[in-house]
Amino acid sequence: MKFKRFFTESASDNHREKILSVLNAKLNHIRSTHGSEDEVERLTHKIAFLTSMHQDGAGHITVDDVYDDHNKVGDEYDAGYEAEDMYSEAKERKPKKPRPLSKTKQDKLDVENRFQDFDFSKIKGQASYEQINPQDLADPEVRELGKKNKSIVERQSKLLHNSTINAILDENGNGIDLEKLKNIFTGTPDKKLNLLGKNAKLSTSRGSLVGKNDKLTKSGDGEKVFFDLTLPAYQGLYYDEDLNSFQIIRTCPNAGMCKAYCYAAKGGFIQYSNSAEKSAKTMTFLMNHPKEFAHSIANNLKAKLRHHAYKGKQIMFRWHDSGDFFVPQYLEMAYEIARETPEVLHYAYTKMVGQVNSSNKPDNFIFNMSFGGKEDKKIDRASGEKHADVVLPDVTSDLNIYKVIKPGQEEKKDPAKKSVIDPKDLPTLKQRISDKWGYPISSLFTYDQMMKIPVGDAGIMNVLVFPGDGDDSATRTDVNGTLLVKH
Ligand code: SF4
Repeated sequence: MKFKRFFTESASDNHREKILSVLNAKLNHIRSTHGSEDEVERLTHKIAFLTSMHQDGAGHITVDDVYDDHNKVGDEYDAGYEAEDMYSEAKERKPKKPRPLSKTKQDKLDVENRFQDFDFSKIKGQASYEQINPQDLADPEVRELGKKNKSIVERQSKLLHNSTINAILDENGNGIDLEKLKNIFTGTPDKKLNLLGKNAKLSTSRGSLVGKNDKLTKSGDGEKVFFDLTLPAYQGLYYDEDLNSFQIIRTCPNAGMCKAYCYAAKGGFIQYSNSAEKSAKTMTFLMNHPKEFAHSIANNLKAKLRHHAYKGKQIMFRWHDSGDFFVPQYLEMAYEIARETPEVLHYAYTKMVGQVNSSNKPDNFIFNMSFGGKEDKKIDRASGEKHADVVLPDVTSDLNIYKVIKPGQEEKKDPAKKSVIDPKDLPTLKQRISDKWGYPISSLFTYDQMMKIPVGDAGIMNVLVFPGDGDDSATRTDVNGTLLVKH
């Protein structure tokens, strides 16, 4: 039956050719070592028979043909068995080639190697956190703080969405079922937590780069795809597996004035139960399993690269929609991930100015030193240090800035409704910003204007970013200041 498999209807051309090549090699060997004439003749005959079968298309010759014709083919039939035995022996002698690792497995191995000597325990060791009594979260007065009529300061002290709390109240409805809360935070299992996300701003950014009206981008350096990571804004809850308790951690140690206008901290993330839960899960994962956390981000980015890069798209990764590099070792971990993913452009807004300036930053990492924190004096706006600031309503309130819906888009399909300034008011806004911060008026551009200019020399532009604009200015080396306009 083996003969049938190799040399009749079910045999592949490849198998037949391999058998013939083994036999020819054997024949050459016998000839070169002056083997017996009998042996040479027998083998030559065998090869001729099998070659003719192969050339005729052995698919036409069934094993029954061979049996019926056994008397005729006789030796040749035995020759087939012998040939196949020789082929099997040769196959056994041949060392098996190790199969190359799949791209995914190779990536995982690279990531593990990268982090072999990294001290992850330092992240928790350097962090500042404090135990809370989770039952306080269920206090009716605390739950009231989430209401829209409460002040920013009151809402900032809210740590969990009321719907989450309602879902985990104990049987009496007064206290929290701690096991349920722990299960929410720890997730099941942690490793499956998808850490990379896109927010409306980043999605808009991607959209604008490939938008029909943006000829330069279409013909320029290709499409970009943005992803980000979200930590809790200013402070957040996490469950500590070593201490078996719930902790509150300061995620923006250098936050200053920004707390007053930080959308995320003032309740944006607490307005939605999913956002609050996700950032608590992220923090719980990071504080308890920093190594797996780092692996997860690096592997996620590599998977995004495999998926998007072959289409010529550049992956952009924003460290933190909210939150900051809360300890030096966490910043170092981000750098290691950036070094492991050199094709990704990593970028961040940060108020950890001194910490970042004294670090050894990889080339594929761009920072925007962000005003509104405790280290504003360390940011050199004039010297071209890439930075971000907020243009508050006291500068804009009397100007005509309004929301528009992109042509052809239904309102409900445009979550990041774009704001624009009346062209008549733009010079006034530029003048006020120039007077306030000393930027030359000629260096001030709107985001839409910037998107029409190809990337050029470092730090020549200061860009006014209106609500609904993308995030490209934070990633471009020719942009000095990203000025986020509030109104
Ligand atoms: S540092 Fe950023 S995320 Fe943190 S409170 Fe300030 S603005 Fe919000």
